[in-house]
Amino acid sequence: MSDQHISHLVAIVGAANVLLGDDTQSYVTDYRGVFRGEALAVVRPGCTDEVSAVMAYCHENRIPVVPQGGNTSLLGGSVPDASGQAVVLALARLNSIRHVDTLNATMVVEAGVTLNAARTTAEEAGTLFPLRIGSEGSCQIGGNLATNAGGTAVLRYGNMRDLVLGLEVVLADGKVWNGLRALRKDNAGYDLKHLFIGSEGTLGIITAAVLKLFPRPRAVCVALLGVDTLDAALQTFGLLRKRLGTDMTAFELISEDAMALVLSHLGRQTSPLPTSHLWHVLVELSSTANQEDADAIFVAALSDAAEKGLITDAAIAANETQAADFWLIREEISDAQTRARGSVRCDVSVPLSSIPAFIRETSDKVLTAAPGTRMVVYGHVGDGNVHFNPLRPADMTPEAYLDQYGDNISRIVDQAAMALQGSISAEHGVGTAKRDELLYVRSQVELEIGWRVKRALDPLNLLNRGKVLPELPSAA
Ligand SMILES: Cc1cc2nc3c(=O)[nH]c(=O)nc-3n(C[C@H](O)[C@H](O)[C@H](O)COP(=O)(O)OP(=O)(O)OC[C@H]3O[C@@H](n4cnc5c(N)ncnc54)[C@H](O)[C@@H]3O)c2cc1C
Repeated sequence: MSDQHISHLVAIVGAANVLLGDDTQSYVTDYRGVFRGEALAVVRPGCTDEVSAVMAYCHENRIPVVPQGGNTSLLGGSVPDASGQAVVLALARLNSIRHVDTLNATMVVEAGVTLNAARTTAEEAGTLFPLRIGSEGSCQIGGNLATNAGGTAVLRYGNMRDLVLGLEVVLADGKVWNGLRALRKDNAGYDLKHLFIGSEGTLGIITAAVLKLFPRPRAVCVALLGVDTLDAALQTFGLLRKRLGTDMTAFELISEDAMALVLSHLGRQTSPLPTSHLWHVLVELSSTANQEDADAIFVAALSDAAEKGLITDAAIAANETQAADFWLIREEISDAQTRARGSVRCDVSVPLSSIPAFIRETSDKVLTAAPGTRMVVYGHVGDGNVHFNPLRPADMTPEAYLDQYGDNISRIVDQAAMALQGSISAEHGVGTAKRDELLYVRSQVELEIGWRVKRALDPLNLLNRGKVLPELPSAA
């Protein structure tokens, strides 16, 4: 039977684009090597019509489908389960930029275009596509949309949901919805694109999108700050927001342990600051003013923070190379953790004003439960988003740490976030890793609405089965 399926799939996309056996390995294992499954085949369509034909065939033959972009997501959403029954639908070959319209400030790109390529295209057209995340060389626009990706510029430009005007989607039965409208005002009925954004491949296959473009800043200023306390970090945020307004594009917090880990990963002895600090902040201003004026505003704002005793140290990037180097430190923390092995990854959000209490109290609880833990805490604090990722003590194996403490630490962190009216998943989504937790953090009504939408769009439950939506105790 499976040979017959393979022949049909080959007839649609060509033999070179149906991978089997060992050739599927990099598609059935996630970026960190934590989630692993098996696939009937990996199918790599090259255009929307081929996606449609594959979906129609899978629908007719009840074959589950797992859409996959760059496979950089962290919660198991992009890889199949162990049954070996699913087709992994890899979208990388849908990699055309269909259209750039600088006056309308939009571009139409296919789902498999990497974030990096989309940003470069925008730049070459003299504009900006502002989504910025550490995985931008590998992750794809389709994956960014399916996860509603966030990143380091949300403060100014919003999440992926805020950066898109229209979508093209192939439905579970192969029908194509062309919603590629490049309009900033369009209230003619339901705004269906929002159903698919953030749905992690459970409702449809995104094949193309109309993305918003923005004016390219003429000046960018970046500084790394040393801060003694979390309260001072948050007060600094308040002060800079008042002084810099929406020109403040990033405000990233980095704990002492996170800084030590990433510096060692990068093979460096010291941070750009002369002394070590309990907390660091990476702050960025982007402005359409000229560089000289922007520098003056930036320096004045930071001086104000220093005079008020909020920041104790600051290194201001002298040029683009140094700014890129400061950003490298921030962006490599995730990979530093992957390499160190043995961290519990919690991507939570709480209201901004609760961040100091959240980090302090949760750190105390984690250290009591798992003594010697390194508190790798960092994130997009300007958005209330904390990557709270406790790391094993240096003298404990990753396996022992995760076995002994992993579940308990996740519970401590998630419960603390929920107690402060926060979220257990700020930007990484749900996948399989967080799926069952939704039973505790979402109401029955909300979960039932989710299942009704799922059944309407994917009645045979073929699209990314077992991801995002937990089974409900009673029939919804
Ligand atoms: C070093 C590093 C740094 C990161 N930093 C951030 C960060 O700052 N902010 C952030 O939000 N995330 C971050 N991530 C997580 C990840 O990069 C994002 O979730 C990203 O958006 C996933 O894109 P992808 O193309 O790799 O999608 P995948 O991992 O391939 O897929 C993600 C989900 O989307 C579905 N999917 C993929 N493509 C499609 C499609 N075309 N149609 C329908 N469904 C689809 C998949 O089935 C899966 O459920 C980081 C990851 C790494 C490794």
